Amino acid sequence: MERPVRVRFAPSPTGPLHIGGVRTALYNYLFARRHGGTMILRIEDTDSQRFVPGAEEYINEALAWLGIGIDEGVREGGPHGPYKQSERRDIYREHVKMLLDRGRAYIAFDTPAELEAARAATPNFQYDARTRGSMRNSLTMPAAEVQALIEAGTPYVVRFMVEPGRDVVVDDLLRGKVTIKSDILDDKVLYKSADDLPTYHLANIVDDHLMEVSHVIRGEEWLPSAPLHVLLYEAFGWQDTAPAFVHLPLLLKPDGKGKLSKRDGDRLGFPVFPLEWHDPKSGEVSSGYREKGYLPEAVVNFLALLGWNPGDDTELMDMDTLIAKFGFDHCSRAGARFAFDKAKWFNHQYLQQTADSTLAAALRPVMEARGVDMSPFSDEYVTRAVATVKSRINFVVDLADQAGFYFRAPGSYAEKDVRKRWTPGTPALMEHLCTILEAAPSFAAADTEPLVMDWIKGNDLHMGNVMNAFRLAIVGECKGPHMFEVTEILGKEETLGRLRAAIDRIPAPDEPAV
Ligand code: GLU
Repeated sequence: MERPVRVRFAPSPTGPLHIGGVRTALYNYLFARRHGGTMILRIEDTDSQRFVPGAEEYINEALAWLGIGIDEGVREGGPHGPYKQSERRDIYREHVKMLLDRGRAYIAFDTPAELEAARAATPNFQYDARTRGSMRNSLTMPAAEVQALIEAGTPYVVRFMVEPGRDVVVDDLLRGKVTIKSDILDDKVLYKSADDLPTYHLANIVDDHLMEVSHVIRGEEWLPSAPLHVLLYEAFGWQDTAPAFVHLPLLLKPDGKGKLSKRDGDRLGFPVFPLEWHDPKSGEVSSGYREKGYLPEAVVNFLALLGWNPGDDTELMDMDTLIAKFGFDHCSRAGARFAFDKAKWFNHQYLQQTADSTLAAALRPVMEARGVDMSPFSDEYVTRAVATVKSRINFVVDLADQAGFYFRAPGSYAEKDVRKRWTPGTPALMEHLCTILEAAPSFAAADTEPLVMDWIKGNDLHMGNVMNAFRLAIVGECKGPHMFEVTEILGKEETLGRLRAAIDRIPAPDEPAV
């Protein structure tokens, strides 16, 4: 019988979730939903040294923002809890004992100084079958001495006993079967008495087993741990229900040379974290996709395609579409270049699909933050203004740059445009334009546009000069949406007011500028 799909995202709360971790979470989620399975969020906090306050909350908030739903977890609960490793000490202790009782692990007392000395004495020293016989552990010391040391509270670790001369086969759904020699593995520490906590390796595989995980989908950086995990499953006798491995390709720097790092983000100006992160110790702030104005849908879509494709050229896919198409058959093994410009493109696309009224609501606080009182403007007005510039934006804040003139008359006029477009004859032309617009039956573009066009053509005026001076007066610079759409939205009073203000305020070119 096919096993039910149960996957887990198992971050360690050691800082903000990196964008690569988000992709891992996303692939787990897509795979779970695709197969009607279960998505588990397990917090792997057994390394008390590296615990960072706020990191767990950050993980929860980031996943919620992106719409990566969790079925079983610390907050959701579930039949295999607790889902936080620091609350599972009894379980790990019991499993460490199982391995000790079966002779698959042993207790070691070597102090850091002793280990250091061994490393100094033997080049490439590794704690393994060749060296364990000369170290201070339960294999070399009399049982009574071991017992006495434990009772005296001497710190110890439990090490896994790796059998030499074995071929260890890691079967990965993306990479196929990879065989390695057990001799290259060391006797990894599974448990430390000092903090009564297991290490990542033990906790990770015990939990995957107890939580009935069917697929371990994680970043390629964990591939080197996989052979040990295979041996651990075997030592526990769980090999028949061991999960399938999927090690996802690394995220690479935008130029493809090397692994993506936080520094690349700083250097090239893009976030490598989903949400802004305030480091509790250093106070350092790292930028996040959310705060930079990315829509969660855009981030999800962008990340989904870093290492996977739907088998054709389709790029725009919402979460439901991704779920319907996702599978490991189109995942690549090669590292995925972090082409962050593409994230902007996705954001642009999703903004185009966002309702004008939603964008209008999002624009209000941005304008307020720029010191513009938005209360006089109706939702309808803001929405109409947004509609005229929407196609030019990649971010909501771009709306403020592009549509700001709808809410604030020009305070100054772009110098370069004035020099080019405000010629000695311009004030008189603009006066005339006022008279024409004054007489328009309505301010609908359908009424104003033909009137102005007829005047320009009938008098052999230079279209570019007239329209650009007009634009300069209304917008403050020679760019923006279709002029008559703009004046329709601004209305008669505002349009004429701005034209007159420009005539008054822009110095005629023959006068010296003040
Ligand atoms: N706690 C590990 C991490 O931080 C989990 C790795 C795994 O998925 O096995 O990514």
